[in-house]
Amino acid sequence: MDVTSMPRGYGATLPDWVFDELTAVPGPLTSAEERMALVNRLAARNPVEGSGGPFAALVVNTADGEVVSAGVNLVLSSGLSAAHAEVVALSLAQLRVGTWDLGAEAAVERELVVNWRPCAQCYGATMWSGVRRLVVAGEGPELEELTGFDEGPMREDWAEQLRRRGIEVVSGVLREQALEVFADYRRLVAERGLTVYNARNSGDSSRGLA
Ligand SMILES: [Zn+2]
Repeated sequence: MDVTSMPRGYGATLPDWVFDELTAVPGPLTSAEERMALVNRLAARNPVEGSGGPFAALVVNTADGEVVSAGVNLVLSSGLSAAHAEVVALSLAQLRVGTWDLGAEAAVERELVVNWRPCAQCYGATMWSGVRRLVVAGEGPELEELTGFDEGPMREDWAEQLRRRGIEVVSGVLREQALEVFADYRRLVAERGLTVYNARNSGDSSRGLA
């Protein structure tokens, strides 16, 4: 077989503006609200900058609020369907910490902060990452209704399944602010004719996978 055009690796790179946003944060993010406010800010800016959908995530040391990594949805800029904010943030945290298990150090508990309940893919990615806590702004159908993204076939007991594996779930942090980001995104798509990436043939070109 001819493998000359077959890639040997892959990756996604955060744009500079994400680091500008992080650098502007004065210190550790001590409360869940401060962490989510930054996530919502990154999520709101991401589609304007053209990297991907209105989604962002942080990996944070739960106790002291130090940010280990950030992620935004990079599906459009990377051309990779798996480059969701959660996967980007978890992967960059694992590179920074130097292990695939973010829970390897018993003394350091790390959490994933996201602006909505993860999709089917990121649910699994969260489960295997080693984080000890998942903080989301909200859950429920509003995200799909407002943005047109498809979250996939999530289990009804998704949060209970995480808890059984030692991952605490906190929901409802700055929920209204997150919904405003999604509503703004819908307006942006309509005004600018933005690309809502389509990862499958659903018969509706406006749908994509979040
Ligand atoms: Zn996802």
